[in-house]
Amino acid sequence: MDILISEELDSPAVQKLAAKYKVVKQGALWKNPAELKTAIASARAIMVRNQTQLTAEVLAAAPRLVAIGRVGVGLDNIDVPTATKSGIVVIAPLDANATSVAELTMAFALGLARKIPKADKSTKAGGWDRPGCTGVELDGKTFAICGFGRIGRRVATLCRVFGMKPIVFDPFVEANSPLLAETGSTWVGTLEEALAKADFITTHSPLTPETKHMFNAKTFGIMKRGAFFINTSRGGVVDEAALLEALRSGHLGGAALDVREKEPPAGKSGLEDLDNVIMAPHIGAFTAESQTRTFEAVAGDVDRILSGQPALSFVNMASPLRTPVA
Ligand code: NAD
Repeated sequence: MDILISEELDSPAVQKLAAKYKVVKQGALWKNPAELKTAIASARAIMVRNQTQLTAEVLAAAPRLVAIGRVGVGLDNIDVPTATKSGIVVIAPLDANATSVAELTMAFALGLARKIPKADKSTKAGGWDRPGCTGVELDGKTFAICGFGRIGRRVATLCRVFGMKPIVFDPFVEANSPLLAETGSTWVGTLEEALAKADFITTHSPLTPETKHMFNAKTFGIMKRGAFFINTSRGGVVDEAALLEALRSGHLGGAALDVREKEPPAGKSGLEDLDNVIMAPHIGAFTAESQTRTFEAVAGDVDRILSGQPALSFVNMASPLRTPVA
């Protein structure tokens, strides 16, 4: 086998690979780590989204593997240090979906501000509840952006079009970063300061031990009464029980979640029953444009690596590299 695909992935770029290499697609393989270990043993490359857990144990079972193609952004399901030590290149086209995720973030901000889910549901049910659907404008509101990477910076640019004031918290961004002026954003030194000032809060940090449950009872408590919270990053940065409580108590004005702690969620959490909560099934990167860009970049790099050429969209410098063996 040349290429193992362990999640539901298909596109013309993958079909092109299949015309040149032996591609084995097992869309549900990610659900069974033992079967994954058996299948990956003979693979030269693997293509995954965010469900397949490529742990040190799984990678140890993959002696022929030279490339991991991550179709998307967010590397929390891949043990990149182990891949690097093993000489395996991790491919991830980091720029490919920033615009799509940022646009979804703005759609959520507008949806929350104008109570679009409630207006839609009540009108389709035969109602005409104009007072109950009174919203707020984005114009003039402060938008706290937690995580000022590719997506966070794009959100800053977009929100200014609506007259919002972006403030940025990112422990790895200096107060004098030129990216702040470029995007018209104001730096703040602590998460607490950002949360206390904001009318809207959006998170764009990766999921790490430091960011796990960064949004919890304490940090929700710091937010202004009536603030709106948006998560298009990773479900694990939010303590969902604390979010539910902050919404039920009326402290938060609403929340929008593209991502969840467990995907798909194991059952109902109570958040589904609230009118001021918008949910989506992790579709931040699911636009035609983003998918085409991502698949072409990943498939192109898998092909390059398997034919002994350097990758273009890699996130690690594996050295020495494993040599692809046909
Ligand atoms: P990026 O690496 O360009 O930016 C992440 C930023 O978060 C960096 O600037 C980093 O300094 C910052 N950061 C790290 N720790 C932080 C902390 N404790 N508090 C605040 N900021 C912190 O990544 P990106 O491309 O902008 O993507 C951001 C995240 O969005 C990804 O890690 C991924 O989990 C998620 N994502 C979701 C979707 C989706 O479909 N919803 C799609 C793509 C990415």
